[in-house]
Amino acid sequence: MNEFLILGAKVWETTEDVLAPLSTPVRVRDGRILGTGDEALQDASEVPHLDLEGRVLVPGLIDSHMHLELDPALHTPAEQLAVPEEKRLGAMEDRAREMLFAGILTARDCGGGRHREHRLRGQIDRGDRLGPRLLCCGQPITTPGGHCDFWGGAVQTPLEIDRMVGLQVEAGSDWIKVMATGGVFTPKSSARESQFELSRLNRIVDVAARAGRSVAAHCHGTQGIADAMRAGVRTIEHASFAGKDGFGTLIDESLIKEMARAELWVSPTVNAGWGRRFVNDRGEPSEFFRRMSACLQLQRDHGVRFIASTDAGIPGVRHSDLALGLMAFERYAGLRPVDVLRSATSEAARALGIEEETGRIEKGLSADFLVLESDPLKDLAVLRDPEIVVFRGRILDRALRGRVDEPDAQAR
Ligand SMILES: [Zn+2]
Repeated sequence: MNEFLILGAKVWETTEDVLAPLSTPVRVRDGRILGTGDEALQDASEVPHLDLEGRVLVPGLIDSHMHLELDPALHTPAEQLAVPEEKRLGAMEDRAREMLFAGILTARDCGGGRHREHRLRGQIDRGDRLGPRLLCCGQPITTPGGHCDFWGGAVQTPLEIDRMVGLQVEAGSDWIKVMATGGVFTPKSSARESQFELSRLNRIVDVAARAGRSVAAHCHGTQGIADAMRAGVRTIEHASFAGKDGFGTLIDESLIKEMARAELWVSPTVNAGWGRRFVNDRGEPSEFFRRMSACLQLQRDHGVRFIASTDAGIPGVRHSDLALGLMAFERYAGLRPVDVLRSATSEAARALGIEEETGRIEKGLSADFLVLESDPLKDLAVLRDPEIVVFRGRILDRALRGRVDEPDAQAR
């Protein structure tokens, strides 16, 4: 039995806008939170404890959209596909471990080519590798020549849709991903154009639902967003409201109102790359910043539910940089730090259907939390360097970052 008690730290309860004024004891046993507060202290005299006076505990972070197999240092699909298999697998393991030490304890992989991330998910779950809890989408459903078709998920007919969704389910995918519109990363693909008619999207959602899977829809163009919503997808990725003049140039307020009423979440993939685009060469707010701020703030004002995401793996966006993405998200969407943090913890867990497993520091849930040296509700920057990460009850000190290879080596 592996058991410990944390004393002296203040716990952020995700329903609250501020930290509790007093510290809350938290007791962990066999990977789960056994109790908090007075309950944690019952018959605790023999239980080893960590004294974390003055620290803050927040739930482990969740990145709702990343790609483990993509190397952010490479710029084209051709370069990605040319990476030798052995090297790719090693790099995926490294990325997963870095994410864990960066406090990202759950992540949804929104697409790859050969279900490699599913195998890594199994190794992580068995404790053979260090990495976050993974939810995998497998091969994104797309069209021949469409966005990311190099991953092998292209379909045309309804029967091909059934077969391709079935293949992902068979491979053990937790979610189904569809490319409802084109994308930026794929040559010859147009981000604002829809790839599927509504009837096809309906079919994808129906087939997925029969297998108990929810659908994440990649949507840049406004028509694609509208159709994905009507088809009943659970998460809209990007939601760029792209028109012919680029992202954020075809904003549809009545659609945004409908989105706020629907059972869906927007995963806007505001990442560290966006954080480098606040201002233009003249030091003024950039065109990109102005457009995307307007787009996100209108969604915020109408009550669209957000979940934090980065699209890590795309050029320049590292897998461990969620915290930088959250800081950018705060500015673009004009959110309070507490709302940003919810979008990366409790709200993300709800959207991903794992709120009974993680996303809050509560009795019965997986012991997934970060020990921070100051209050992230005042300044999110502290999330960039968690002092200690606790994942499924395992304690990972930041001093071990970068030099732990074997999961057994870091017991403290
Ligand atoms: Zn993506």
